[in-house]
Amino acid sequence: MDSAELIDRLQKIVEPGYVLSSEMDLILYSYDASLEKAKPDVVVLPDSTEEVSKVVALAHKEKIPVLARGSGTNLTGGTIPIKGGIIVHFSRMNRILEIDIPNRTVTVEPGVITLDLQNLLLEKGYVYQPDPASQKVSTLGGNFGENSGGPHCLKYGVTTNHVLGAEVVLDDGTVVWLGGKSQDNPGYDLTGLLVGSEGTLAMATKIVLKLMRAPEGVKTMLAVYETIEDGANTVSAIIAEGIIPATLEMIDNIVMRAVEETIHVGYPLDAAAVLLIELDGMPDGMDDKAEKIMEICERNSVREVKLANNEAERAVLWAGRKGAFGAVGQVRPSYLCCDGTVPRTKLPEVLSKVIEAGKKYDLPIGNVFHAGDGNLHPLIMFDDRDPDELERVHKLGTEILKICADAGGTISGEHGVGIEKLKETSFIFSKSDLEFLRQIKRAFDPHEIMNPGKMVPETEAMQ
Ligand SMILES: Cc1cc2nc3c(=O)[nH]c(=O)nc-3n(C[C@H](O)[C@H](O)[C@H](O)COP(=O)(O)OP(=O)(O)OC[C@H]3O[C@@H](n4cnc5c(N)ncnc54)[C@H](O)[C@@H]3O)c2cc1C
Repeated sequence: MDSAELIDRLQKIVEPGYVLSSEMDLILYSYDASLEKAKPDVVVLPDSTEEVSKVVALAHKEKIPVLARGSGTNLTGGTIPIKGGIIVHFSRMNRILEIDIPNRTVTVEPGVITLDLQNLLLEKGYVYQPDPASQKVSTLGGNFGENSGGPHCLKYGVTTNHVLGAEVVLDDGTVVWLGGKSQDNPGYDLTGLLVGSEGTLAMATKIVLKLMRAPEGVKTMLAVYETIEDGANTVSAIIAEGIIPATLEMIDNIVMRAVEETIHVGYPLDAAAVLLIELDGMPDGMDDKAEKIMEICERNSVREVKLANNEAERAVLWAGRKGAFGAVGQVRPSYLCCDGTVPRTKLPEVLSKVIEAGKKYDLPIGNVFHAGDGNLHPLIMFDDRDPDELERVHKLGTEILKICADAGGTISGEHGVGIEKLKETSFIFSKSDLEFLRQIKRAFDPHEIMNPGKMVPETEAMQ
């Protein structure tokens, strides 16, 4: 089917104004937050499950690649149409369909912005916990696709722990429901399989999420360190003591400097690193826990621990953390955010190897990451107009993931594999592991039209 006919057929499914195909539109949809780029043939913005189903059925009949897109903030090329085809952009399917307080669930369309839902729930005294730092723009469909984490996921778990069910469109346009509001669904745990499958198996058109009561008390602290090692050792020591804070985030000196140049948070610029520590829950006993944490920080040579005295001070500390990725643009125009996870006791050793690797490739690395989860985010800063730097960035990124894998960790904590880490899957999966993943893909999508070329190398030769 030629392009004109495809557009014509799509305009019979989705209102013509929401079928985009100008050169400018296609360029706008050719990138996401990764370093990759490729243009789709056409973009559609459906308004209902029925429209999504018809678009996917057409793609299936004509063997045209089709991929789901939320806000395109993923960091691994998950929404880059490397084989062309149709992008299904979910921005119009952004309705919060039901807030069911007695059953503690909320049902949403995939295009709802994560923070919009969280703000609305908070007014009612409830929270949807997973809070990717991109929550101001990311969508719940994208969070579903990537199994996103966030600063509060140490205590509460990542997206998959909060998705109870979903309505999904399969590769041939069939609509099915997986899971639901009830607690224990028989059959295969297909919801678990689909969350984090990067849109390679099906598209979610409705998602049922778990609600929790908003915590009654919160205490936020900033612990300041002369060395990164002391900060990293504090992380393991707090958890070994039996305390699981809501948050344990680390920010190093390079990133603090960048943040201070954009938002004034008051980070100590002469320190090597800070730990943002947040306790939440019942106010009873929280002071004791905070004191215990301060003791542990002192045992690990903390310089000082600052306590946020009110909501305004807390908001400032968080603004620094949440604005950190954007702020590194102060240092160099581009960054590659690596995302590896290691057992948290390995953090000091792995961080020093990462810093050494940066020196080897002569590239600055900043660190701002979910330390409690052992989830590192080395930000390699560079100028993407310089091909030599770009080549070194890719090599360094691969080396960092190898360091994580060799330390008993893995190549993604939350950003997925996309296209950026296809080769690196060989660091953690054997050939038979990968073949098994390919069999699952073929069972769902035998014609390989759903976000093809992502997450699992298509052939053994690509491993
Ligand atoms: C500054 C910054 C900070 C970030 N911080 C974090 C963080 O703290 N934690 C974290 O986990 N990530 C983080 N990310 C990465 C990113 O924001 C998350 O992966 C987020 O979930 C992507 O949401 P999105 O709406 O942009 O999805 P997109 O990028 O549009 O899509 C992501 C993937 O999901 C698939 N998808 C989209 N919609 C659907 C659907 N309806 N059904 C099935 N699959 C679908 C896509 O095909 C793609 O593979 C950050 C990114 C940036 C730029």
